[in-house]
Amino acid sequence: MSEANNCRCECGQVQFNVTGTPLMRGFCHCTICQAFNEAPFADITLFRPADVIMPDDTAVEFRAYRPPPAVQRGKCRQCGKPAIEKMHIFPLPKAIIVPSQNIRDDALLPEPSMHVFYNSRVAEVDDDLPKYSGYLKSQLAFSHKLIVSMLRR
Ligand SMILES: [Zn+2]
Ligand SMILES: [Zn+2]
Repeated sequence: MSEANNCRCECGQVQFNVTGTPLMRGFCHCTICQAFNEAPFADITLFRPADVIMPDDTAVEFRAYRPPPAVQRGKCRQCGKPAIEKMHIFPLPKAIIVPSQNIRDDALLPEPSMHVFYNSRVAEVDDDLPKYSGYLKSQLAFSHKLIVSMLRR
């Protein structure tokens, strides 16, 4: 059964399946993502909730890092690494965030489209993607891409 799961955390304790095409992929340099991922930035891929078969809740510890709990960030209880995140930033539709490194099927991974919260970067990134700084610009660019992707299907 486990080989049927196309997503898993670093240790493999948390496994789940995505069944639909991703909405978008991007890099977030916000300080919460840095802390949660223990990395300079988060590489995240978003899916519709209906396209993700959620992992067993007992394997994942969900926590909101900042009120209101717009993003519930789930870590594997075994390896402590990011597993999956539930996002509901009103008035945006709900989405599921999968850390891109947890997607084990490369065919599922879209090209990244942007960097957000680039103002809080700890490392420069040398690529041609648009880089948005500040809360408002980052949220607008991210939201716009997400909504356009959701409407496309
Ligand atoms: Zn794990
Ligand atoms: Zn972030």
